[in-house]
Amino acid sequence: MKRLDNRLANQIAAGEVVERPASVVKELMENSIDSDATRIEVDIERGGTRLIRVTDNGKGIDKDDLSLALTRHATSKIQSSDDLACIQSLGFRGEALASISAVSKLTLTSRTHDSELAWQAMAHGRDMSVEIQPAAASPGTRIEVADLFFNTPARQKFLRTEKTEFNHVEEVFKRHALANFSKAFVLKHNHKIVKRVPASGDSSQYLKRVATICGKPFADSCVEFNCQHELLQLFGWLGKPSFHRSESDIQYVFINGRPVKDKTLNHAIRQAYEGLLPPGRMAAYVIFLSMDPHQIDVNVHPTKHEVRFGQQRLVHDLLVKSVAEAIGECELVFNDDQSF
Ligand code: ADP
Ligand code: MG
Repeated sequence: MKRLDNRLANQIAAGEVVERPASVVKELMENSIDSDATRIEVDIERGGTRLIRVTDNGKGIDKDDLSLALTRHATSKIQSSDDLACIQSLGFRGEALASISAVSKLTLTSRTHDSELAWQAMAHGRDMSVEIQPAAASPGTRIEVADLFFNTPARQKFLRTEKTEFNHVEEVFKRHALANFSKAFVLKHNHKIVKRVPASGDSSQYLKRVATICGKPFADSCVEFNCQHELLQLFGWLGKPSFHRSESDIQYVFINGRPVKDKTLNHAIRQAYEGLLPPGRMAAYVIFLSMDPHQIDVNVHPTKHEVRFGQQRLVHDLLVKSVAEAIGECELVFNDDQSF
């Protein structure tokens, strides 16, 4: 038996986190959001296989921390197991940049707001022989990921067409843009702007963002809902049962700002719409849950899409009841409207 060398161990670990270009975009956007940026630009070439560049105006990384940021298990977001029990940020595993740089040519350029200069670190699929040099850039962070999977042909084989990979990137972009109203976002593909999402000044502009991300037909026909329970606060937009779709393409659920794909929550929402939609048709919704982070475990899977709740049953039942009531009310209004 032999211990795997670091480089191979990193490549294997990267397999869990970096499945395709969209996974890189997800991790980089999460980092930009965690850095308190107010503007985040995502620039993609060839579906992300040639280049993924995410630029933000967040707090930046100190020169002394640059190479550490590319090391596995290095994070500025948690320090103790108490912190792990109460995750407030999107990231906490300290793994994304190490994993991405193990399977790509990564350039990290960052400037903190009190630094005159930006600093740049490059890691090209290598284990930690990072070079650091001065660079010119505005305050914030820019991460460029070129030639994804250039050294892991097995993964490269599984990449789909440029269009399919870009669709996955766009989906990740939309989720994060939807969850962060106060931030501005731009998405470019092959040097052309695909989506420009200006910052929403206040809640009166939120529906405009919903229209930009989910389409005007949904925004025009959804109902806003807002429910406060002791355990959980709910807020969002629900498609009326008359607005049903053949796909689950407008189904967004967030917990404390984190996009999730959770079986319990999806089951609850399906149950709330049960009997109201024609057979085989899907509901559309954007739902934000907020709750005490101590009540949620997000450390379930490396991609952080799944969660566990301290009080799973109660969360499920509150969600069913709140959504069912909100669509019930809109159904009444809808019927009343028709009677005029
Ligand atoms: P995690 O997000 O789990 O901490 P990452 O590997 O994604 O791990 O990032 C490592 C560290 O690098 C982060 O904890 C953070 O300190 C720093 N970092 C990464 N991206 C950015 C960014 N865009 N702005 C500021 N700091 C960043
Ligand atoms: Mg991260």
